[in-house]
Amino acid sequence: MRKRLLPPALLLFVLLSGCDTGPAEYRFDGWTMGTQYLVHAWCDTPVDDIEAEVDAILRDVNDQMSTFQEDSLLSQFNAAPIGEWVSVTPEMVEVVGAALELSERSAGAFDVTVGPLVNLWGFGPDGRPENPPGEAELEAARARTGYQHLEVRESPPALRKSRDLYVDLSAIAKGHGVDRVTEALTALQCPSVLVEIGGDLRATGPKPDGTPWRIGVEVPDRERRGGVQEVVNVIDISVATSGDYRNFEEWDGVHASHIIDPRTGQPALTDIRSVTVLHASNMWADGYATLIDVLGPDEGYAFAESYELPVMLIVQTDDGLQVRTTPGFDGWLSQE
Ligand code: AMP
Ligand code: MG
Repeated sequence: MRKRLLPPALLLFVLLSGCDTGPAEYRFDGWTMGTQYLVHAWCDTPVDDIEAEVDAILRDVNDQMSTFQEDSLLSQFNAAPIGEWVSVTPEMVEVVGAALELSERSAGAFDVTVGPLVNLWGFGPDGRPENPPGEAELEAARARTGYQHLEVRESPPALRKSRDLYVDLSAIAKGHGVDRVTEALTALQCPSVLVEIGGDLRATGPKPDGTPWRIGVEVPDRERRGGVQEVVNVIDISVATSGDYRNFEEWDGVHASHIIDPRTGQPALTDIRSVTVLHASNMWADGYATLIDVLGPDEGYAFAESYELPVMLIVQTDDGLQVRTTPGFDGWLSQE
């Protein structure tokens, strides 16, 4: 039998480089999609300009999918004529395709074309109106919604509408951004990565010491902001949370969530204060979280069960906040 031995010089080099450098740790934050992002990564070797790399990816996501950017690819599609195929990128096809699938699976509780209603209630680029919208405005906006009027083509990548639609990807684009950044860092030989955009996050690997990332799910209560309700220990999975306690408008005591029920045109009226979804992909976790929020506690829980999703609902009851988890979620909860 032949033994394979490393030449002594090479062995020495490997040992030395192992001792000298170790993994490079990066921790930085910035702004994107109207919210804060955070990256914490350990990479096998130093990565040049890692912050610029991440910024460029997030700028690209915005350039494609933001309704807050007038010249984004999505804004161009929204302004394009009815009935014509409009060329887009493969990423747009992936994200719009996923959003369309969520719209179909929820029979329109999630609706990728909800944009005109989102704008009317003050959560779009024009900001808050002086008064909540009236019946006529709501009717006009609803006439411009309906996921059935949107088509996605893969090859060559393109979108087409059969109605004057305004597509809104904000329920899912943050998640897509998290996925893009995480995957780019993995390709740069960073085996331990945590990427978060405005509360949606994805963790790759355990931390270098082998322990999971510990993620606190916030108490969904404006008065107790920053308090931790539950802790999940995550390795190689995404976490997305939706709720109405952070982003809302109020007119004379009328509380309007930024999550709209497209079936009524009204802000979703639900006892769900927050919903947390785990999924390999942050785009899907993000989309499912918004979808379940619209469905409400009972239908939302049944939906999560039927798709075997690990989900935690924090529900307002007469006795205060109640935590409800699907069986798949419990194994991720920290017992400490
Ligand atoms: P998230 O914060 O991920 O729950 O997403 C909320 C955003 O998604 C809102 O600000 C809207 O732009 C959009 N949105 C609101 N309601 C819906 C809905 N029913 N279906 C799809 N997107 C929605
Ligand atoms: Mg979402």
